Amino acid sequence: MKIARIFAHRVELPLVEGSYRWSGGKSVSVFDSTIVGVETDGGLVGYGEVCPLGPFYLPAYAEGVRAGLRELGPHLIGLDPRELMALNHRMDAALKGHPYVKSGIDIACWDLLGQATQLPVCTLLGGRFGENVRLYRAISQQAPDEMAQNVQGYREQGYTRFQLKVGGDPDTDIERIRAVRSMLRPTDRLVADANTGWTQHEAMRVVRAVRDVDVYIEQPCLTYEECLAVRRHTSHPFVLDENIDSLDMLLRGKADLAMDVVNLKISKLGGLTRTRQARDLCVAMGIAMTLEDSWGGDITTAAIAHLAHSTPEEFRFTSTDFNSYVTVSTAAGAPQRHQGFMAASRDPGLGIAPRMEVLGPRVVEVA
Ligand SMILES: [Mg+2]
Repeated sequence: MKIARIFAHRVELPLVEGSYRWSGGKSVSVFDSTIVGVETDGGLVGYGEVCPLGPFYLPAYAEGVRAGLRELGPHLIGLDPRELMALNHRMDAALKGHPYVKSGIDIACWDLLGQATQLPVCTLLGGRFGENVRLYRAISQQAPDEMAQNVQGYREQGYTRFQLKVGGDPDTDIERIRAVRSMLRPTDRLVADANTGWTQHEAMRVVRAVRDVDVYIEQPCLTYEECLAVRRHTSHPFVLDENIDSLDMLLRGKADLAMDVVNLKISKLGGLTRTRQARDLCVAMGIAMTLEDSWGGDITTAAIAHLAHSTPEEFRFTSTDFNSYVTVSTAAGAPQRHQGFMAASRDPGLGIAPRMEVLGPRVVEVA
């Protein structure tokens, strides 16, 4: 089996809520997603998806995915897509860095491996743990009472874990955390994600002001060192996200006892192969994970479901059903949320079939 063609479609994903807003006034109203197809010489096609959270969240942007595929694609024609380590070795040799460019190709090759072996991707990634995967809901940054209202609405839909977008004015953020926590049940979990938005002194003020509140603190500051300083001055459970972009950073964080939970995003690490390495290291080190991606639609959600479902339950903190945040369905067979949970497909590969009428013409084609 050989890779004969790599292609991509560009698809716009408008948000159900109209916009998504986080730290520093950053916001997105329509996501620009790239659906990547890898076709074999025998005519099998596997699919992946890469959707950056705008151009200002991670070092990634939507047009960069397409440009990167045109650069990288020619180096991969003729490779066996089932040999994932060999494929990733070639990708790293041909293009330094740019993990998000490689992610869509890697996911598509896992889909192909599943189709070729007639096994779901979660089986290939280690097995199926438990009945389903618990989800959290990200709460877009707004006034404290509006965020509390939104949490109430999503609670009624079955979610029990909520991630508040803070990282704005620290005094308003303190109000946001208090307003939301006061309406949750003791068993609900609340995360305040500053997305690098606080300076160190602001983060110190916030964690002190909410020290009596049951809340996790996620990525308060821009640098690892700033986050570590905050971590050492708070008893809140602590999550690192933006800084955890490699195995090196995971090992460093573990050595420093810098976090209790990490957020692993498939495209941040470069695909399912690299994220599985990080996931397995976290399991070995006893660190729980949020398993997700930067954004996406049905195909990203399917990939997340397989990654999360193949992770031992005690190490799964949360995951994301991105396909329920957007108004467009790009594939049939994707996981659908039920009472705050989703499950990986039992069909071969990712278990999805792209809706070609939604995808439109190909914008990248390498053969
Ligand atoms: Mg985060």
